[in-house]
Amino acid sequence: MSLSLSAGEGAVLENEPLARHTTWRIGGPARWFCRVHNEAGLAKVLRAAASGGAPLALLGMGSNVLAADEGFPGFVVRLDGEFLRVAIDGEIVDAGGGAALGGVCAAAARAGLSGIEAISGIPSSMGGAVRINAGAYGGEIFDVLESVRLMERAGEARTEPASGIPHGYRWTRLCETGEIVVSARLRLKPAPREAIEAKTREVAAKRRGALPSEPNAGSVFKNPPDDHAGRLLEACGLKGVRLGGAEISHRHANVIVNRGGASARDVLALMERMRDEVSARFAITLSPEVDMLGISWKR
Ligand SMILES: Cc1cc2nc3c(=O)[nH]c(=O)nc-3n(C[C@H](O)[C@H](O)[C@H](O)COP(=O)(O)OP(=O)(O)OC[C@H]3O[C@@H](n4cnc5c(N)ncnc54)[C@H](O)[C@@H]3O)c2cc1C
Repeated sequence: MSLSLSAGEGAVLENEPLARHTTWRIGGPARWFCRVHNEAGLAKVLRAAASGGAPLALLGMGSNVLAADEGFPGFVVRLDGEFLRVAIDGEIVDAGGGAALGGVCAAAARAGLSGIEAISGIPSSMGGAVRINAGAYGGEIFDVLESVRLMERAGEARTEPASGIPHGYRWTRLCETGEIVVSARLRLKPAPREAIEAKTREVAAKRRGALPSEPNAGSVFKNPPDDHAGRLLEACGLKGVRLGGAEISHRHANVIVNRGGASARDVLALMERMRDEVSARFAITLSPEVDMLGISWKR
């Protein structure tokens, strides 16, 4: 593999444990873990992966991924440096793909801009949120997304209006194409700062009550049409079922927690059991909301 990044372009670590970078605290080593600082650095890594035939995966906050115990045999890329920027111009918030969604929401609130309070508690990078159209409490990122700067796997970047990107519930075209979110522009609405902060606090309080405190990756399955995966899983009596260090949360049946020492294998086996029990009892096939790194999900 021939890849050398200048200090301005980024840095490469070899055999970096992914468990350090996922909210589940699970995952073996990434052969090359690249923190890229600008578009030139990102394009260089993409070209190195393509020319060496090595797999490449983006990693944001690691809050929606199950990384294999064996690790990842190629490049794992984290957007850093210039990709962390958040700039406000009138009613537009322009954020790099690596910026933390919580920081973007806080900056918008300080500027008296409303529209993203409902999604403010999602532990996400901007890029991860756009890719899956992250949402909560009736709001989703595409509600306020004006345009996205994308880089294709070949290293070419372009800006596209959000209206041209097919998207739906926890899905966008990017899930199929693997395009990388370099930055995103949100159009928000002016509102009194106190009202924005009150709404953000209300959302934070609701979230605190809803999710477990042990390491987890939020909902493991998407909700099927007109139903809730959590309701179906709870009806199957799965809360509290444990395999190795992984346990289906007592608080939320669609969340798997790491009770200590959980492996990706434990989580995967629990997910398969959850899917199979819901399928047998309700004839509904649940699809994973979490993304797999170095693992393939057998439908
Ligand atoms: C406690 C908890 C609560 C959660 N609550 C919610 C919720 O309310 N609503 C919700 O929608 N989700 C929720 N999630 C799931 C998760 O936070 C979101 O899916 C989030 O958007 C993932 O972003 P990330 O940056 O962590 O992406 P990662 O988990 O790092 O990556 C997820 C996928 O996105 C890809 N990706 C990452 N960055 C980019 C990029 N720049 N360009 C293209 N692809 C990229 C990765 O390759 C991977 O395929 C929750 C998770 C946790 C742990």
